[in-house]
Amino acid sequence: MTIYDTPVLQGRRLQLVKTIASKGIEDKSVLDAIQTIPRHLFLSKGLEYLAYDDRAISISDNQTISQPYTVAFQTQLLEVRNGDKILEIGTGSGYQAAVLSVIGADVYSVERIENLYNNSTKLLKKLGYKVKIFYGDGYEGVPQYQPFDGILITAAIEIIPDILLNQLKIGGCLVAPVGKAGYGQVMKKITRKSEFDFDTKEYGLFTFVPMLKGKI
Ligand code: SAH
Repeated sequence: MTIYDTPVLQGRRLQLVKTIASKGIEDKSVLDAIQTIPRHLFLSKGLEYLAYDDRAISISDNQTISQPYTVAFQTQLLEVRNGDKILEIGTGSGYQAAVLSVIGADVYSVERIENLYNNSTKLLKKLGYKVKIFYGDGYEGVPQYQPFDGILITAAIEIIPDILLNQLKIGGCLVAPVGKAGYGQVMKKITRKSEFDFDTKEYGLFTFVPMLKGKI
């Protein structure tokens, strides 16, 4: 199957990368991944023309693909090293998972909506990104593949459960937008210093769709 991409779209991606860099993203591996990945293929038919604006866009099932700046910000905060085992919660379109994969992570991603799970699994396979996607409730994590070097939550979560923190390696970190959906959430990075010792740092305000319990 051929992958639709053109020099014009690549040029628009370069502009997007420049925009994101001008907003403070410095991690070259993250910027390179955004330059490489055809974000237009992760959007619903008819909305492709919005792909290289720096904005969140509706996908199916009342969900959104995050704003590219937000994807870059969260990915940069995770400080992924080549080969790191990363768990993403909220696969959605699969775009964030593709970014993690391109920067060299061993990616596990969990999605609670079966339709999105099916679509993103098919798309990432077609585009050649090796990501392991699970249909399930991210509040449980993915216990069979723990521990992870990093956990990235891409939906608004009010309280981070111990179940997730305990799936981190010592020295690993979890990045999540914390707060009620509908209001801004504070981006937090929680590093596991030792078995029972966690260090939390806070970054700016972001807006995400809610992390909900159960799978549908
Ligand atoms: N990372 C996605 C953005 C997704 S929006 C992307 O790059 O496109 C948030 C996603 O989290 C939605 O797809 C939503 O269905 C999913 N989600 C919400 N609660 C969840 C849960 N408990 N477990 C797994 N996924 C969840």
